Amino acid sequence: MHAHVERARAAAYEEASRENNGDKARDADNVAARDHATFAAIEAAGPARAPATTVCFRCGTAVPTARMTYGLNGQLMCVACSATYDDRAERRKIEGSTAAGFLLGFFLSVFGLMIVKFVRKKPAEQDGVWIGLIAGSIVIYIPLFFFLTAKLALK
Ligand SMILES: [Zn+2]
Repeated sequence: MHAHVERARAAAYEEASRENNGDKARDADNVAARDHATFAAIEAAGPARAPATTVCFRCGTAVPTARMTYGLNGQLMCVACSATYDDRAERRKIEGSTAAGFLLGFFLSVFGLMIVKFVRKKPAEQDGVWIGLIAGSIVIYIPLFFFLTAKLALK
């Protein structure tokens, strides 16, 4: 078993259940089966020679590959850069913020929901947009609807 393949499968399952997407879960099984076979073949072939140096994605200097670590975006960086790496800011850049999703849902209602779901596609924003949409509906749009229909009824 290759633990990282199973971690990827678990992440894909989580995404599939979030989207309620059975095809995506089946695709994840196929990808996991393929990757297990690939890694088994690699292990059978023996150790490969890794490149001696790799370019750090933050500072751009070539550093021994063995002394590098991964950023949240999946790219390699050197030890010096990892010491100053702001993983919270990086995570926010990748996932978005719940507050931004809330504001989009609150002020743009279903249009904000569309933007978050289909254009921006950031998971943390998708958590906030529904709360914003419901809150915006209660505070702005439903009272506005009743106000306007009452005005029309008086004419
Ligand atoms: Zn670096």
